[in-house]
Amino acid sequence: MSYHLLTKAWRQGQARKPIAFSYILSRTFSHRSQRPSFGIAFDIDGVILLGNSPVGGSPAALRRLYDATGRLKIPFVFLTNGGGFPEAKRAFELSELLGVNVSPSQVLQGHSPFRELVKRFENELVVAVGKGEPAAVMSEYGFKNVLSIDEYASCFENIDPLAPYKKWTTKLASILDTEFDESIPKHDVFSKRVQAAFIVSDPVDWSRDIQVLCDILRTGGLPGRNVGSQPHIYFANDDLEYQTKFPSERLGMGAFRIALESIFNRVHPHSLEYTCFGKPHPSVFKNAEFVLHKLESLLYDDFDDLNHNNAPYFKTLYMIGDNPAVDIKGAQQTGHPWFSILTRTGVFKGKENHDKFPADLVVNTVEEAVDYILAKECAS
Ligand SMILES: [Mg+2]
Repeated sequence: MSYHLLTKAWRQGQARKPIAFSYILSRTFSHRSQRPSFGIAFDIDGVILLGNSPVGGSPAALRRLYDATGRLKIPFVFLTNGGGFPEAKRAFELSELLGVNVSPSQVLQGHSPFRELVKRFENELVVAVGKGEPAAVMSEYGFKNVLSIDEYASCFENIDPLAPYKKWTTKLASILDTEFDESIPKHDVFSKRVQAAFIVSDPVDWSRDIQVLCDILRTGGLPGRNVGSQPHIYFANDDLEYQTKFPSERLGMGAFRIALESIFNRVHPHSLEYTCFGKPHPSVFKNAEFVLHKLESLLYDDFDDLNHNNAPYFKTLYMIGDNPAVDIKGAQQTGHPWFSILTRTGVFKGKENHDKFPADLVVNTVEEAVDYILAKECAS
């Protein structure tokens, strides 16, 4: 696997170099060229961004992890349950928004583990659900017969009785009509069963998506037919709520899962069987540790693999998040070497620590979190 860490020119004009930390870092890495013994995982929504706007001094905080030439010095990844776009596209967007060089390998999204299911469903018909470009995400992972739920639903006349009342779907239908001539003949949706549904990102049209997913799931993948065995359904995360620019939290994919499951279990004799990925599952944090390890091995030529005897790659890995039940719970469940830092720029807004999932450290912003980490690591 190749990594493209520094594909974008460093933006001299946007660089702000905090004197204290650039001094500390230059001392640290010029005196010894060994790898740092720590890495950082940043949640995005509510920590780095609110909607598409940086929050908590995130651009300045991230720039401290690069040297003056824009070369990454400290291994970090974005560890988000969000998604909807291929990792390369998301990395480019983050680079633009934050003014630093973000590699696709540094972007770990909720749906990234779907890549591991390619072997199982590579040539099967699968449906991808959610905002953004869910089918493009799955195609890039290697799924060869994937349709977005927009494309799939539009093949079935009258499948959504509310469609005539959804003014925005008129525009969507005209777009799909122009795209369908080439894509639809690839899949005979009336005879080929959908083998799996993937909820890639937050669903947009809940009523249509719940209707069509119930059709797929209760008929064995052929809407309008008799009851059949349930195809697989995978969710990229199970977040009940998340923070955007609106003052209070918004309903997330976990809320959609509850709605779908509740309805499916009323219209079908057997309960919905499903699989959820994303934080707080420890496998997500283990994978992040592995990715940070590979990232660091590319940054430091003198890297020595310390993982013999199954020793941890890092002394400390910092998880900076805004959601106690997702970011903090996940880091704590995974255990050493994870250290959790809770910010107040997103879901969590409390004065003290969270009652149920207390973090190792609570700060106001991501900039304060990076201040803490660099001061602690560079003094040790
Ligand atoms: Mg968040």
